[in-house]
Amino acid sequence: MSSKKLYASVILDSLDKSFDYYIPKDLQDLLTPGMRVVVPVRNTTRKGFVSEIKETASFKDPKPILSIDAEKSLITKPLFDLALWISKYYITPIGKVLTSILPASLRKTKKHKEQYFVRKKITQEEMRQLIVNLLSKSPEQARVLEVILKSEKGILLTELLEKADVSKSPINTLVKNGVLEIERVVIGRSPLSNEDYFKTRPKKLNPDQEEAFSAIKSDLEKEAFKVHLIHGVTGSGKTEVYMQAIDVALKLKKRAIILVPEISLTPQTIERFKSRFDVPIAILHHQISDGERFDAWHGIKEGKFDIVIGARSAVFSPVQNLGLIIVDEEHESSYKQSEEMPCYHARDVACMRGKLEKAVVILGSATPSLESYRNSELNKYHLSELKLRAEVSDLPTVHVIDMKHEYAKKKQFTLFSELLLDKIANGIKRGEQSLLFLNRRGYHSFQMCLSCGKSTECKHCDTALTFHKTQNALVCHLCGYRIEPPPKACLFCGSQDPLRFKGAGTELVEKQLYALFPEVRIIRLDADTTKHKGSQRKLLKEFATGKADILVGTQMIAKGLHFPEVTLVGVLNCDANLNIPDFRSHETAFQILTQVAGRAGRGRFKGEVIFQTCIPDHEVIQFAKNQDYKSFYNYEKEVRNLFQFPPFTTLAKIRLTGTDEKKTEGLLQRFREEMISHLPSDYVLYPVLPSGHAKVKDNFYFQFLVKGQSPVPMQKAFLACKEAKLIPSAFRLHIDINPLNTFF
Ligand code: ADP
Ligand code: ZN
Ligand code: ZN
Repeated sequence: MSSKKLYASVILDSLDKSFDYYIPKDLQDLLTPGMRVVVPVRNTTRKGFVSEIKETASFKDPKPILSIDAEKSLITKPLFDLALWISKYYITPIGKVLTSILPASLRKTKKHKEQYFVRKKITQEEMRQLIVNLLSKSPEQARVLEVILKSEKGILLTELLEKADVSKSPINTLVKNGVLEIERVVIGRSPLSNEDYFKTRPKKLNPDQEEAFSAIKSDLEKEAFKVHLIHGVTGSGKTEVYMQAIDVALKLKKRAIILVPEISLTPQTIERFKSRFDVPIAILHHQISDGERFDAWHGIKEGKFDIVIGARSAVFSPVQNLGLIIVDEEHESSYKQSEEMPCYHARDVACMRGKLEKAVVILGSATPSLESYRNSELNKYHLSELKLRAEVSDLPTVHVIDMKHEYAKKKQFTLFSELLLDKIANGIKRGEQSLLFLNRRGYHSFQMCLSCGKSTECKHCDTALTFHKTQNALVCHLCGYRIEPPPKACLFCGSQDPLRFKGAGTELVEKQLYALFPEVRIIRLDADTTKHKGSQRKLLKEFATGKADILVGTQMIAKGLHFPEVTLVGVLNCDANLNIPDFRSHETAFQILTQVAGRAGRGRFKGEVIFQTCIPDHEVIQFAKNQDYKSFYNYEKEVRNLFQFPPFTTLAKIRLTGTDEKKTEGLLQRFREEMISHLPSDYVLYPVLPSGHAKVKDNFYFQFLVKGQSPVPMQKAFLACKEAKLIPSAFRLHIDINPLNTFF
């Protein structure tokens, strides 16, 4: 080792800056970037990460590093390199990146959350007998025993409480009477290991699956980095391919990470993997406590788990000897961190990690993002298409209903078309279930004509104008173009008094359904009814067990649900997503409509889907109706190319937050002007505008967009402007590279 490398930059915990330290002789051969060290800071000592080892220090006579921390390699070398890449690409100080990669509890000692496991102390037969005796005397105790009877080896107390729907008191009584026993367990080591699942065997792959699989297998064996994109509708057998790929990785003595959207991290998903593999699997829920996360982190790092399953942040799990990363539903927006820096996209981070660790990355989706499909077109990714549903079941029939006719028939706005009401009534009669989506986000209102169905659009951008009540104006959120006051007649057909469409809430839908069908049973699922932890799961379970005829919800319920009894799916307002003022609105709308249509008829009966819209001829609605991804892609690609949006360019969103409206806006203006001087002339800077949520908790949000070929000049310009110290520390500056949303 060269004796010249005498200095180290150390990133102090919870500080953004790094400081140089002298490396004492005895540490010089031991220290590597990424290691944790103890250093003097003023009169005390602090811990930090070595970010760089170098020959010169940035100031004279730096203090020496005191020691290497006992937890010297808290982070693996490839993960540290990944953090450095994230810091550079997403323009976030490395200290902040590390904080978000490492579990919060890593630097504190936390008491672990306690969990209890309930077992029976009597035989199945005795228990059956007891249930009969208890049925009238204590129905609650009987319910507890019924649940226990079904779970062979025992059950977590929390789960038992939920399943039996009781308080703890009947359970305590049963323990006192010697029927049950309760044992304390350490979490993360659930008493139910994989052995408790019936093992499933790999299926014989169909030709499409085989093609995808053998390409993946050969890259795994080469230990070469490669990204594979698997495009296949739900049920086409992607998960089967993932599992067989994992099998290959395991045989090569490699480990695997599986990323799934938070909402898909359900017991069924976990069970599918646990029932296939004999190796230990770590599950990283967002609900697990800091203590459990801490346990999991160490367990993974020590190699106790060969497979890690988790949501977005699981991409950072310290798996060593990583061979395979799978990103299921790669188009899902929950993979992007938007509110906090670094604003990383877990799919892109997964690809970079694969590159750094020479691992194979599999992206899977029924509706791939434009970015990923484009990359496969450019041969950067290997594309496999699974064209058939693995299990035979017909695609549902989709009816597109023109709501303009419905409004005309009724001479007023209505939530439900006649066909939809007919089908709902039929479903209720036959005891079948329906799903109704209110496919809107409800964040903004826009102006829409009831006669021609068009919304008022910006002259300069391909987006709908947003109505601002306080200013009584329609404003473009991309370029600032405005019409003030909003036009009194439709710009397209001249019809008088266009509707200011705020959309109807799920609550209103529920109310009107009760008015139409007094005896109907409805479950409503939206932000209001799912505030409490676990309430979403509870409501979905009630619906799955037939406790309601209709499930009314926002698009949140569209994803990954499997309700075999559902034969009718209605989308009340297809147009809302298309009218969001964002260049991705077509893509999001297509994804949601395609997914929603996939909800119907997954069981014994053929399903029917009703799309209600005022623009029935809109390409996106037609493509979704036909479940035609390829045509959608080709259409949308042209639009993006024409308007020069990603994937043909890079976008950055720069946002400033402050308590003084005028000052915040003014400072961001200055920042923007400074940026102009640092950017090549072919980079476009959009004007400073209030964010979609312009004021939140007395803070004002302003933003502007930058567009150009590559992120590099943007990154450089942003850093240069930050160096210029234009922004006082009371204001918060935020940058999002490749934002999912240009509006908020
Ligand atoms: P996806 O992940 O694309 O939704 P899955 O892998 O879950 O699809 O497959 C859907 C269903 O088809 C599952 O029940 C799965 O077990 C079954 N399946 C998948 N591949 C095959 C195959 N080659 N032969 C038979 N059944 C299969
Ligand atoms: Zn009109
Ligand atoms: Zn515009």
